[in-house]
Amino acid sequence: MTAEAQCPVHQAPATDTCGRCGRFVCISCQRLRDRDVFCEECRQHVPDALPLKGWMMFSGLSLLLAPVTLVAALGQVWTLVRDAGLSSLLDTPEVDPVLRLAMLEIVGLAILTGLAAWTAPRFYARRRSAPALIQVFFLVTFLLGLWSRWQLTSRGLAVPPSQDASLVMAAVWLAAFRTSNDVARVFVR
Ligand SMILES: [Zn+2]
Ligand SMILES: [Zn+2]
Repeated sequence: MTAEAQCPVHQAPATDTCGRCGRFVCISCQRLRDRDVFCEECRQHVPDALPLKGWMMFSGLSLLLAPVTLVAALGQVWTLVRDAGLSSLLDTPEVDPVLRLAMLEIVGLAILTGLAAWTAPRFYARRRSAPALIQVFFLVTFLLGLWSRWQLTSRGLAVPPSQDASLVMAAVWLAAFRTSNDVARVFVR
């Protein structure tokens, strides 16, 4: 905060900026909510966050467990590629389509793992204030699941139930972020 910065309302030295409109606030008009600072006007427009409880605990849990489940999934795909023979991918011009699918899944899962590892700690450290990351996480989960499902069925392969479960979970959460006020007040700041 520079020495010249002043609160436009009170002509007093600014102590911070409003987290919503960005205006300078002074000690007499800054309003705090959790660790966020707002000006007097904006504070009235920011609803109090709802606590993470009830059925919404599942979302918090799924975020916490996401890196674990994704690492397990990566291990599974890696086993598949290793059993199929990674060297055959490099040697033969005609790549086994199942192997290619596995390779693409590895790339997708690596992105998803990175995203989950990035999102989950921020979600908790910043008092659940990473809603955009969470929505991106669920969107990537959904699109990857959809693509993978299509790849499997078009080859006449069985779709594992866990895959459909994660697809449904991602779809439900994406919809909930758009339609539920409760979800918005818990996760969107
Ligand atoms: Zn403001
Ligand atoms: Zn002021």
